[in-house]
Amino acid sequence: MASPAATRPAPQDEPLVSIDGLSVDFATPRGTIHALRNIDLEVPRGKVLGLVGESGCGKSTLAYSLIGLLSENARIAGGAIRMDGHDLARLGPRAWRDLRGQRISMIFQDPMTALNPVTTIGRQMMDIQYRDPGTRAQKRARAIEFLEQVQLPDAASKLDVYPHQLSGGMRQRVCIAMALLTRPDLLIADEPTTALDATLEMQIVTLLRELQEKFGCSVLFVSHHLGTVAELCDEVAVMYAGEVVERGAVAEVFNAPRHPYTQALFDCDPARIRVATRHLPTIPGTLPDLRQPPRGCAFRARCGKAFARCEVEHPPLYPAAPGQDARCHLVDPAEDAS
Ligand code: SF4
Repeated sequence: MASPAATRPAPQDEPLVSIDGLSVDFATPRGTIHALRNIDLEVPRGKVLGLVGESGCGKSTLAYSLIGLLSENARIAGGAIRMDGHDLARLGPRAWRDLRGQRISMIFQDPMTALNPVTTIGRQMMDIQYRDPGTRAQKRARAIEFLEQVQLPDAASKLDVYPHQLSGGMRQRVCIAMALLTRPDLLIADEPTTALDATLEMQIVTLLRELQEKFGCSVLFVSHHLGTVAELCDEVAVMYAGEVVERGAVAEVFNAPRHPYTQALFDCDPARIRVATRHLPTIPGTLPDLRQPPRGCAFRARCGKAFARCEVEHPPLYPAAPGQDARCHLVDPAEDAS
């Protein structure tokens, strides 16, 4: 079979990546944490999928699973990550080295730690082109071209500076340029605006949208900021306690969230609060202990709508509306009928 790095086919209506029943465990001194449990999700081709949820819900673990960068104590306990006929969950280190940075790239949360502090931007951008056959001058020209794509002023001069000589926003633009340099099929952005102030955040989100449309790649955008997800994404998946609890088109989920956790997340979003208050709302309670996930619904202890069935029966993802699914028994058509 051809290397996954070499394969570039598939009809446009097929998803770029299909995640089927993916489970990831972490071995810790205090026991095994079941961080991802039976994730079913598709990354659409040429679109932006947002991944939201509170800290510890599994967003980053899912993102790192898609680029083969899970920590050493992690183990894929089940399921598959399919991309063009290959199962990424079963790839060895060598196949991952070929794929990573070529067909799948990542923008990390903190551009200061993502860049090498003792090497110039130019050197780093030349180094990541090591597979390309071009001359040094061609690679340098390509680096400048991509710095211009991310709208860095006086791009050529930026090749000679070190990361600490740039502002935070400029550093993140460099990281975006480096991630796109190999024209990946999938760009994973793991909270890329968290380290930036609000003005820069919107600039980076706008830039990402423009570049995604220009290059036609798929983007997995991990964020806890609902406003940026609404601005940037076509589809969204909401995660809670290692599961996808709601998924669908951004317009549908944001206009009519069907899962009580999604509704609670929106209720806590400062941008949606209409009445002046000194106390921002929060979701009461904490995430369940993922060493022993609860038997019924994982959100039951915090859900104001829980009922008897929620304690004993784990909800599947029910179709809630066309193109929208929610993991809640309230959405089960059988509940309406009873
Ligand atoms: Fe709440 Fe029950 Fe729905 Fe879970 S299944 S979100 S506990 S109503």
